[in-house]
Amino acid sequence: MNHFRSTERHLTLLKIPCGVLKEARVSGNAGSGGGMKNRYANRKQSFSNHVVSRYTRGARTIKLREVMQTRLLTNNSNIPLLNPGKLNPEEASKNIVTGPIVPLTLPRFPKNNSSDKLPSVTKILQATMPASSQFLLDRWKEAMVKKLGFSGFIKYQQDTFERGKLLHAVIANYLLGQGGPTELSKEIVSNLWKSVENVVKDKISNVRLVEHIVTHSDLKYRGIVDCVAFYQDELVVIDFKTAEKPKKTVESLFDNPLQVTAYCGAINNDRSIPKHVIDRNICSALVIVAYVDGTEASVYYLGREKILNDYWKQWTNRLDQYSRMEEMKHRQSGNTDLQNGTK
Ligand code: MN
Repeated sequence: MNHFRSTERHLTLLKIPCGVLKEARVSGNAGSGGGMKNRYANRKQSFSNHVVSRYTRGARTIKLREVMQTRLLTNNSNIPLLNPGKLNPEEASKNIVTGPIVPLTLPRFPKNNSSDKLPSVTKILQATMPASSQFLLDRWKEAMVKKLGFSGFIKYQQDTFERGKLLHAVIANYLLGQGGPTELSKEIVSNLWKSVENVVKDKISNVRLVEHIVTHSDLKYRGIVDCVAFYQDELVVIDFKTAEKPKKTVESLFDNPLQVTAYCGAINNDRSIPKHVIDRNICSALVIVAYVDGTEASVYYLGREKILNDYWKQWTNRLDQYSRMEEMKHRQSGNTDLQNGTK
């Protein structure tokens, strides 16, 4: 136990979530395939039984119980992406009959909101990043620091964040029908807008949500979706990204497909979205990558088949991994309290 805890602390210092290594260890034995997978599932199950019996006795904190509830859901019942209470895309009319509405918007990061406490999709994806992506990211950071210096790299990151924020504001402004894009004074923003202008103007219609906070009522996560609108006669989730270099393959999007898939699940199960705004399940998405030099954006369409059969499973696995990490955190702080008490 002591050994385990010091390993864990080590991992925290290195900012490597322990779940990632566990995953890496499992996939490291690639040859053994199904057997390994089964053993992993069994271990997961017995671990969760162990924790349940421990905590139904003690019930240490409400937070822990909440974490457990989500875990049991992600573990056992395989909450589907689609909401059985809603129409599926093929049953719904080509376009929402009530016609265009003023899209719902909420300000970013509202205070005093109960959904405030839920983890966001991006936080979950970051915390459970696969070891292979983490490796590439670390190597890239290292090279950038070498090139720009430490403070230069910090500035670079701030600029990247800023350009994303500005582009999102310009797009939201346009989609909300509040006139043409503003804030094009900065060259980089006018280039980014030039990059996405055609697809935003010609391919996206009947906008339903813009920069809207969505919450999965059962799986207890939330996110801010850039846009929900029609794209070629289909209602889709849309996320905008900015990039310097062309993203030529879906692999170069890393976790972006899982992010938009998580938003689909949240929208389908968000009880606060009225039916006249979204009347059906959504199970397709677009990731639109705008380029800083103004060249035509890349549009990645992620279809129903891939989202239902692949990305949704990957996402719920990551969610489960995240809640295991949270549970471990709470379990450990509980143990530490006990130990300190006896000393
Ligand atoms: Mn975005």
